[in-house]
Amino acid sequence: MDFAFDARTEELRERLLAFLTEHVYPAEAVAQEQRAALDSPWQTPPVVDELKAQARRQGLWNLFLPDERYGAGLGNLQYAPLAELTGRSPQLAPTALNCAAPDTGNMEVLAQFGDEQQRKQWLEPLLAGEIRSAFAMTEPEVASSDATNITTRIERDGDSYVITGRKWYISGAMNPDCRIFIVMGKTDPGHADIRRQQSMVLVPRDAPGLTVRRAMRVYGYEDHYHGGHAEVVFDGVRVPVGNLVGEEGGGFAIAQARLGPGRIHHCMRLIGMAERAIELMCRRAVSRTAFGKPLAGQGVVQEWIADARVAVEQLRLLVLKTAWLMDTVGNKGAHTEIQAIKIATPRTVADILDRAVQLHGAGGVSQDFPLAELWAAARTLRLADGPDEVHQRSLARRELRAYR
Ligand SMILES: Cc1cc2nc3c(=O)[nH]c(=O)nc-3n(C[C@H](O)[C@H](O)[C@H](O)COP(=O)(O)OP(=O)(O)OC[C@H]3O[C@@H](n4cnc5c(N)ncnc54)[C@H](O)[C@@H]3O)c2cc1C
Repeated sequence: MDFAFDARTEELRERLLAFLTEHVYPAEAVAQEQRAALDSPWQTPPVVDELKAQARRQGLWNLFLPDERYGAGLGNLQYAPLAELTGRSPQLAPTALNCAAPDTGNMEVLAQFGDEQQRKQWLEPLLAGEIRSAFAMTEPEVASSDATNITTRIERDGDSYVITGRKWYISGAMNPDCRIFIVMGKTDPGHADIRRQQSMVLVPRDAPGLTVRRAMRVYGYEDHYHGGHAEVVFDGVRVPVGNLVGEEGGGFAIAQARLGPGRIHHCMRLIGMAERAIELMCRRAVSRTAFGKPLAGQGVVQEWIADARVAVEQLRLLVLKTAWLMDTVGNKGAHTEIQAIKIATPRTVADILDRAVQLHGAGGVSQDFPLAELWAAARTLRLADGPDEVHQRSLARRELRAYR
């Protein structure tokens, strides 16, 4: 068994490490200051655009896209250690490299299912990092973890589709640079196959009838760096029929295809977040003294650090195995493992971050350390892209099948 990455991955890793140290970490405080001085907290701080230009010049750009026509042409196993590094600075690094959700999933959808006109109009500026995008599926009125429940209507009217519905937690939509929404709704609510009722359409931000109503919070955070999570109303929004993505009735299948890579990307970045938490824990443990000895001398602290290290190594191996399966047998063949990492990673990393918060005392819950916000992000991923229980249910069913 060979645990080494190939030469190209190693070389990119070295370059990315240097980029993070030289440019991204120092920009964290700058971005915070700049954001405070902007007219609106949803605008992109100028330092982020500088980071993007730097990353692009250095070839650290669109690394997530395996299709060489559009991106770096890396497999999942090659991208995994790079995405992990970006998780060390989750608020800046993924955006700097044009590898941030939800744009990544949206670019994949457009590359895979968009027609030539759609790719020209929306994929090209997304690939160039000139605009941002959002994916609108979840609705406040229905249990949206079951996507067959969604009620938004996409009705054909001559050469147009008319969209009516209300969505929430639409990531990225508060940022004015978010110019395009991929919206999932029902074109045929009466279809006998409940997975053929849905379609996806492209809706430009400035379409009449589209209102970005408010920013939803995540444990009290507004997540400015991710462009927030908005409530969005579509009130009779009219778009040309050419804005349909793929075919009518194909929305459910596209949503499924979109989530496989998205889930593994989140898990890769979460491991980077856990590594940052361990680093902060160790630094704090050796630098603070209580009751006559450094915190690092307390058995309980040593246990937290050891358990965190073991858990991260276990998670990384499972994520890498999943990445390898996705590359070799495809996303469908890696379905069980994708579910396993989506169940295991957010909750384990949230636990590690919780211990890191504890070790930092009041500082841990403060804005002076990234831990509280990272914890909220990790905890949230037990809901986003499908709650734990939905993945557990499906994984258990598969496991039980052999015994029935
Ligand atoms: C920060 C954040 C960002 C998000 N970004 C986006 C986005 O960009 N676009 C978008 O469309 N959506 C987004 N979402 C929404 C997210 O995908 C949904 O919250 C998720 O799919 C769950 O849907 P729901 O909130 O309607 O919960 P529900 O479907 O109402 O489920 C509630 C709970 O019921 C339980 N449950 C449900 N099904 C089962 C089952 N089969 N077995 C056992 N228990 C079950 C689970 O505990 C679940 O948490 C985001 C959410 C968050 C928090």
